Amino acid sequence: MPRLCVLVPCYNEEDMLPEFFETVMPVLEDATGGQWSILCVDDGSRDGTFAVITEWHRRDSRISGVRLSRNFGHQAALSTGLAYARGEYIGIMDCDLQDPAEVLVELYRACLDDELDVCYGIRGRRDAPWFLRAAYSAFYRIIQKAADHEWPRDAGDFCVLSARSQQALLALPEQSRMLRGLRSWVGFRQSGIAYNRPARLRGSSKYNLRKLTALALQGLISFSNIPLRLASLMGVAMGFFSILFCALVLINRLIPRFTLLGYWVGANPGTATLLVFLSFTLSVLFICLGIIGEYLVLLLQEIKKRPAAIVASVVGEMRPYDSAYALLDASSQPSLWSVTAR
Ligand code: UDP
Ligand code: MG
Repeated sequence: MPRLCVLVPCYNEEDMLPEFFETVMPVLEDATGGQWSILCVDDGSRDGTFAVITEWHRRDSRISGVRLSRNFGHQAALSTGLAYARGEYIGIMDCDLQDPAEVLVELYRACLDDELDVCYGIRGRRDAPWFLRAAYSAFYRIIQKAADHEWPRDAGDFCVLSARSQQALLALPEQSRMLRGLRSWVGFRQSGIAYNRPARLRGSSKYNLRKLTALALQGLISFSNIPLRLASLMGVAMGFFSILFCALVLINRLIPRFTLLGYWVGANPGTATLLVFLSFTLSVLFICLGIIGEYLVLLLQEIKKRPAAIVASVVGEMRPYDSAYALLDASSQPSLWSVTAR
């Protein structure tokens, strides 16, 4: 088993890959004394990406590749790669060299020296257009507040993780997988190292605004119940508002001297009834939506089938009745699970 297996998702990267291998291989050779491997996941490329991977596999068998039947997306490619990767530690990086190989080695060394299970890169300065930088920054700030668990700020998928964290990630049965969120959810000893993210070396970003928005929404929906709870909150807020409003309308109707911004509802018969009725039914409606939302929150939680917790270590001779709570054995065979399109 190699010391470090580097997992690289590739989508239409034939121009980029040779330079990636040439840059990363000597750095890995140095850091691991030759005990490395690179696993490329070709995410249904339309160009010669897989031919390049095959060619480099012939040159050095430590390079291997998995090809998906079509473009399933970056996150699905990462999950598939995790199911194939074998190593004491697994590194995850993009093939456009936006995640520098030297920083990967730093993450790896931090895992070894500080006995970390996960060490991720924290993006400092970014070479990206200002509106993208603003959108990324807004997303991480929102998700950090909204997520049910601690979510590190400005940390992407670039990381090194232990075989035990890999097993924990593979044991999560959910299909809609955002790695950086699941990675922090899994826990164990985690830390980050800040780095500056350079611009893409060659070619253009394989993400567009639609894919980025979908990823952000997936993150929010998978890791936060706040959007669903919004209806409850609005219902309760509107309920209070409608009680206050009804009181004002009634006072106005009975005491003409007390006007609503100069208007007296008694001037038009039926207005008071209509206003009270409307504000009351609307708040009842929102409260009902909120109740449905609460049930959906519970349903969603059950559907994801995440275990309630993950065990890190045990003292004494014990075996749980439920294997979901078993101590994860890094050397065991990973469980099989399928990947669907997102
Ligand atoms: N990628 C992928 N499938 C996709 C889109 C991207 O496997 O559908 C890969 C891509 O080849 C690269 C990594 O994911 O190695 C990050 O993509 P990109 O650099 O285009 O994203 P950005 O850095 O602009 O966010
Ligand atoms: Mg990139």
